Amino acid sequence: MEVTAEIEALVGPGCVDGLDFEAIETAVRRKALAVAARAVERRLNADTFDHAGPSLPCPGCGNAARYAGRHDKTFTSVLGELRLSRAYYHCDGCQAGFCPRDRALGVEDTSLSPAVIRMTGKTAAMVSFAESSELLSELAGVAVDAKQVERTAEALGREIAEDERNVVEPATPGAPTMYLGMDGTGVPMRGLRVAGAAGQAGRRQRQDARGQARHGLERRGEGQGRHPRARRGLRQLLGRHRERRHAGHR
Ligand SMILES: [Zn+2]
Repeated sequence: MEVTAEIEALVGPGCVDGLDFEAIETAVRRKALAVAARAVERRLNADTFDHAGPSLPCPGCGNAARYAGRHDKTFTSVLGELRLSRAYYHCDGCQAGFCPRDRALGVEDTSLSPAVIRMTGKTAAMVSFAESSELLSELAGVAVDAKQVERTAEALGREIAEDERNVVEPATPGAPTMYLGMDGTGVPMRGLRVAGAAGQAGRRQRQDARGQARHGLERRGEGQGRHPRARRGLRQLLGRHRERRHAGHR
């Protein structure tokens, strides 16, 4: 495999004891991801079935939007940047266009891939937007600036709020619900988890207070974290994800 050869070349010949292991693992990860990114890009761009005919109904007004060629757009993924070519439909009435594939792949109105959106949501629920950007870059090698983190967190917050309005979770009979105050919002904790959660609760509240303090400083300083509601929504979402996982393991 050419990838293996390239990676061996990166490590180089000779005794490994004198090598800078961190430099090598970092460089090799970058290389491996870049190779994978090109493969995914090729695979996705080879499929042109998103060209579904000369016109499609416009999502805005319902009139016919005409096919206007393939448009390229660069997306930030966990593999690095992906340049995707998608069928583009333009509506003259709305003076706007859309790519059906963006909706199909879950990247409508964003340049971030689903995995990057998930990572961004996760960090934005825990630390400030600027810190999120830093963590994503340092841990995942993904470049998402603080402004993008903010926009993504807001969009997720809106989605979650909508989801909450539309979906009413059925109450489990006999499972008492305890609410922990976080950011002044209740995070429901159900059933068996409540027993072991008391200690965790105190710890989480302390961590949260620290987060809020940091948040407050930033609000005064660099205009970060002006949207605590989006973050609250994310917290709840992540709390539910965790709950579902725990429920699955029981
Ligand atoms: Zn239209």
